[in-house]
Amino acid sequence: MKYEGMMIRPPSETDSLLLQVTVGCSHNRCPFCPTYKGERFRIKTFAETEEDIREAGTG
Ligand code: SF4
Repeated sequence: MKYEGMMIRPPSETDSLLLQVTVGCSHNRCPFCPTYKGERFRIKTFAETEEDIREAGTG
């Protein structure tokens, strides 16, 4: 799986599969949040997602 950017999730989910289908934040305007500043939001392509699913199935 090719994860882009900062990964944020609770420790209890450390071992779970994380399938990233978007990169960044589609809103990205909350004044208190620097998480995705400077990062352009995008939806991953179907081919990228399909590849990630395929990789997860073989791991
Ligand atoms: S808190 Fe941050 S990640 Fe969440 S919607 Fe606001 S800008 Fe986006």
